Amino acid sequence: IIGAGHVGAATAFALMLRGLFSELVLIDTNTALAAAEAEDISDASALARPARVFAGSYTDAATARIAILTAGAATQGAASRLSVAAYSAEIVTSCVTQLTDAGFEGVLIVAANPVDLMAWTAFRRAGLPAARVIGTGTLLDTCRLRQALASRLNVAPESVEGIVLGEHGDSEVAVLSAIRVGGLTLEQFAPGLIDGARLAREVRDAGYKIVTGKGYTSFGIATAAVRICEAIVRDERVVLPVSTLLTGQFGLSDLYLSLPCLVGAGGIEQVLVPDLNETEAAAFLNSASIIQKAIGVLSIS
Ligand code: NAD
Repeated sequence: IIGAGHVGAATAFALMLRGLFSELVLIDTNTALAAAEAEDISDASALARPARVFAGSYTDAATARIAILTAGAATQGAASRLSVAAYSAEIVTSCVTQLTDAGFEGVLIVAANPVDLMAWTAFRRAGLPAARVIGTGTLLDTCRLRQALASRLNVAPESVEGIVLGEHGDSEVAVLSAIRVGGLTLEQFAPGLIDGARLAREVRDAGYKIVTGKGYTSFGIATAAVRICEAIVRDERVVLPVSTLLTGQFGLSDLYLSLPCLVGAGGIEQVLVPDLNETEAAAFLNSASIIQKAIGVLSIS
């Protein structure tokens, strides 16, 4: 795990509790922080899942099966994720260069924000196949959508099908037409109960609300990163909405955005193109144009 801040530490802890690794190295320019977090998690590991957790360097990560990049600029208050793009890109470029120079050839999961841009930056720098550079994307937003619906409909989140696509950010696309509960549409299951536009806004703004309250978000994104690791380690071939290189889907290429992806041992094994209605397809294209503009600014600066 590169970056032992709030997200990195929470991810390391959650990975350990799931027993998903035998050895984990925490890398951070703040070496004292990385060492302290590694020791704290090691203490917990003794009572939970046996695993070796230590602070180290890129050489230690050279043969890792998975690297998770959480080093990046954190946003404050109501600042958008895109506002920290240039600073985050510098950090991501430096980390990925050192990781690949050390010989890393595993799957790289990028959580640093703005995640679609940072995953694209990491992909361009790493020289790894796109299948092995994955942004956590809208997996977290999708969990928020399913959780919000489940609580309103009084059903278990696992019984709610729903997905958020596009940018992990202000232009994200909650695909309301695809929501199903036991195969029923929202209108069939609970006629007139849910205001879709309001629900989508709440899901979009959920991160800001948490940042306002505690200064950062960590547990949700950590669990999303762990879920992707699990899919890789267990070769699940599960469909997850994650940020991936577009190669012609919706007529778009050379940018990262979230689409439903089949995730297994090789990383992203297939990118699926969902059936969106006209409004949703337009919103997805809007997400793309925002990210393309931001890529243009990053490439100039
Ligand atoms: P944080 O400031 O607590 O941690 C960042 C860590 O990165 C710090 O410990 C810092 O020392 C380290 N770091 C900085 N530059 C480095 C470098 N060049 N090499 C190694 N380490 C370096 O921030 P955080 O709250 O953990 O957030 C980390 C990132 O994750 C941010 O970009 C944040 O926006 C993002 N994030 C993403 C999601 C998501 O859904 N994708 C959710 C929450 C946070």
